[in-house]
Amino acid sequence: MSINRHQRLTVLGATGSIGLSTLDVVARHPGRFSIFALTAQRQTDKLLAQCLQFSPRYAVLGDAASVPVLQRALHEAGGRTEVLTGVEALEFVAAHDDVDAVMAAIVGAAGLRPALAAARAGKKLMLANKEALVLSGQLFMDAVGASGAALFPIDSEHNAIFQSLPAGYARDPRAAGVRRILLTASGGPFRTTPVEALQDVTPEQACAHPNWVMGRKISVDSATMMNKGLEVIEAHWLFGTPAEQIEVVVHPQSVIHSMVEYVDGSVIAQLGNPDMRTPIAHALAWPERIDAGVKALDLFEIARLDFERPDLERFPCLRLAFEALRMGGSAPAVLNAANEEAVDAFLDGRIGFRRIAQTIEATLERAVRMPVDSLDDVLAADAVARELARLEIRKRHLP
Ligand code: NAD
Ligand code: MG
Repeated sequence: MSINRHQRLTVLGATGSIGLSTLDVVARHPGRFSIFALTAQRQTDKLLAQCLQFSPRYAVLGDAASVPVLQRALHEAGGRTEVLTGVEALEFVAAHDDVDAVMAAIVGAAGLRPALAAARAGKKLMLANKEALVLSGQLFMDAVGASGAALFPIDSEHNAIFQSLPAGYARDPRAAGVRRILLTASGGPFRTTPVEALQDVTPEQACAHPNWVMGRKISVDSATMMNKGLEVIEAHWLFGTPAEQIEVVVHPQSVIHSMVEYVDGSVIAQLGNPDMRTPIAHALAWPERIDAGVKALDLFEIARLDFERPDLERFPCLRLAFEALRMGGSAPAVLNAANEEAVDAFLDGRIGFRRIAQTIEATLERAVRMPVDSLDDVLAADAVARELARLEIRKRHLP
């Protein structure tokens, strides 16, 4: 018999890559989960189809102008979901008493407030939205500690680390004899591209990841390796591990999703096909295991596993993330905000690929470092950094 009682879920960012994978796993186990709320920014067609399939009590749209579109379509299709909008509505469905577990899969800083609301409400919180933790690290982990929320990393690397630790030691791996965390990285689509050619790469090339299919923002982050930088900061907060004890290991096959090295010389790894449904199913069913629809790993087909040191000259974003973590205070929030603005500008064709790192570096230099003790402090640091990054992006357009 299942030791987990039926779970009622809110999926924040339901129409995205992680949201779709989550609902795919949920649909395979109809008796086990039900959907309380689904949210999206403005993709009304996808959200409508999901509402008709899963009959949530609430659907939340970030974009208020899209609300009547969804309401009308729901009405015509006989759906009974109530449509809400705004960040308060996101917080409401993340912290509602009738919710057991929340999948936080909004992309970027926009996901912070609802994820934090779920943490403060003591929910089982499945965190894909790494930017939330990068922005507000200490504040976020304090909220988890104070409420007793159960925090499950969804990022494949952090989920692998969680799985490679003894039960109950996720918040204090050193007490379990952990010496280092070995965070694996694919190296993205430009691992072997000549550095001079990076100048001219297009958003389409940057989004064509060799192993994973993901949203556009995280795909660009993987191409700059800022994704790994954000993940170093994420690992620092999740597992309380200092930067010096986190080693990034480039592993182009993306089969080992990360490793934990113990003082006795043991290294424990989690392996699997690169499919986010594995970490999602792990978090959904923990401590049990459920079918995720993922095909079995064929080691004979993979045949070999390679490892390389990361090239910080080629990938300055990774270096900048380590620097921001060492600076502390608002620096990781500044790094994240500048990155979001620069990635947006790159995807819109306003700046070239290499300008992403330059924009972040300039913003980190200019932003005054502040302590971040409250949500207001975090949001202020984020807002100032965005302003500085936008100035930087515009300035370089002048002759
Ligand atoms: P995505 O772009 O595919 O989806 C983002 C979702 O958030 C969509 O539902 C979108 O409607 C919603 N959204 C976007 N902006 C919003 C806003 N301002 N307000 C409210 N909702 C908004 O992104 P994704 O690839 O699914 O990634 C989601 C998060 O998970 C990111 O933080 C990413 O770093 C993390 N993550 C993703 C993967 C992956 O394989 N895709 C792996 C690890 C971690
Ligand atoms: Mg990852």
